[in-house]
Amino acid sequence: MKVPFTVSDFLYRAENVYPDRVALADEPEAPGGGLGEITYARFGELVRAQAAKLDQLGIGHGERVAMVSQNAGRLMTSFYGVSGYGRIFVPINFRLSHDEISYIIDHCGATMLLVDPSMEDTCKDIDVEHFVVMGTDADDQMYAPGAEPAPWTPDEDVTATINYTSGTTARPKGVQQTHRALWVNATTFGWHSGVSDRDVYLHTLPMFHCNGWGMPYAVTGMGGKHVVQREVRGPEILKRIEQHGVTLMCGAPAVVAAVLDAAAEWEGPIPGSGQVRMVVAGAPPPTRTIARMETELGWEFIQIYGLTETAPLLTMNRCRPEWDDFEPDEKARKLSRAGAPAIGVKIDVDNQGEILARANVVLEGYWEQPEATAEAIVDGWFHTGDGGSMDDEHHVTISDRKKDVIISGGENVSSIEVEDVLFSHPAVTEVAVIGVPDEKWGETIKALVVVDAAGDAVSERDLIDFCRDRMAHFKCPTSVEFREELARTATGKLQKFKLRAPYWEGMEKQIN
Ligand code: AMP
Repeated sequence: MKVPFTVSDFLYRAENVYPDRVALADEPEAPGGGLGEITYARFGELVRAQAAKLDQLGIGHGERVAMVSQNAGRLMTSFYGVSGYGRIFVPINFRLSHDEISYIIDHCGATMLLVDPSMEDTCKDIDVEHFVVMGTDADDQMYAPGAEPAPWTPDEDVTATINYTSGTTARPKGVQQTHRALWVNATTFGWHSGVSDRDVYLHTLPMFHCNGWGMPYAVTGMGGKHVVQREVRGPEILKRIEQHGVTLMCGAPAVVAAVLDAAAEWEGPIPGSGQVRMVVAGAPPPTRTIARMETELGWEFIQIYGLTETAPLLTMNRCRPEWDDFEPDEKARKLSRAGAPAIGVKIDVDNQGEILARANVVLEGYWEQPEATAEAIVDGWFHTGDGGSMDDEHHVTISDRKKDVIISGGENVSSIEVEDVLFSHPAVTEVAVIGVPDEKWGETIKALVVVDAAGDAVSERDLIDFCRDRMAHFKCPTSVEFREELARTATGKLQKFKLRAPYWEGMEKQIN
């Protein structure tokens, strides 16, 4: 028998097995009003009401429904209310600018755009058929209470979500994931990280980012509790762990750093000590940070490696019983590797040192970009663009990036995109944008520019402001250096590795 996998399977189980449990505690201070605390029975009702509303609006199966929002209860219901009833959900980074969001809406052809009240000004004149500023007063534009949604014939091979990610091109690409891929990612991730019905999951990771790495599905399937966190602030994270008895969270190394800072100021025992496990990825976490998570917080550190293109789970590194008695530093060294392939994933390293992956979680394709898809998946292997190695314990270490991507605070920034913007400044004649190590963000963005004679009057601040007016702020350079010329190959190609080298001297890895 073959029964199609769909994301609805996760909620179906929770709703039937745990109807009276609290499914979700929404952000108490959500602008426009959140959903409060809702049970799985109520969660299911809202999801059906949302799908029924899409029917009423004439938004058909296969159409795209986009959302720009910080973590929120309504974003959670949409993973099911949109994808679970045959539409394609497109969660978008809330840090993007008007033009960037507008490009995505146009590119994916979304017929509906739902936005958090804080994004109203940024998004209000975007050309889309149905525009809703979410909140209690607008719930009737998003949900049709009591109405039954039209049935959708489940198909595991259709696209459930599109996540736009900055990569090797100036414009972000839309990663299409099928129900099947999301299902496999959620179940294997849940299994490897030991998600159970005792888990209380704190959403410190943005839900738009690779569908919150699949935790909105995995935790729901087990009937765990979701605690929404809108903004990542260390003291607030600790408070919520204490208040809700959080056991599980995910985030980039920058989130761990924020928690460690907050813990240093915290009075009394650290919340979640001996109870929280934290899954970290997005950049290689420093070994010292890993050790501090155990010694200063008493939390379990778990590293994963993956990409939006791989749903994301490719590898996981979690303490083995064999390492239990190691000293914290030695254990941290073991855990500083990206980890071993998750079940169902095959990893290879090609002769250029690029990590290749073969698995059911690899993307269906880049939305409407068949050439980009063909470049990424060659002979059945997905090219990650990351450089690394595999050791004799079959653990992968990521040490370099083949693609022109900077990762700052866990978010990808395409250096080409930033270069494009700087080039549009009249005084700039040459530009190279590189990632340089940064204590707080892992990497930060530096622009090396050559200006023409008129450019003498242009300052570092002017160029940074020029970018900030045109792009999401996390993508903008934090420093600009003026140069006479930039290192190029004989064919005129920028030698980024040469330009980067002085900033990374003496470091073990060429990424941070
Ligand atoms: P994204 O698609 O935005 O989730 O970014 C994926 C990229 O993040 C990967 O291609 C890697 O460059 C980087 N990344 C993710 N996890 C790790 C990790 N554990 N160590 C090093 N880099 C990572």
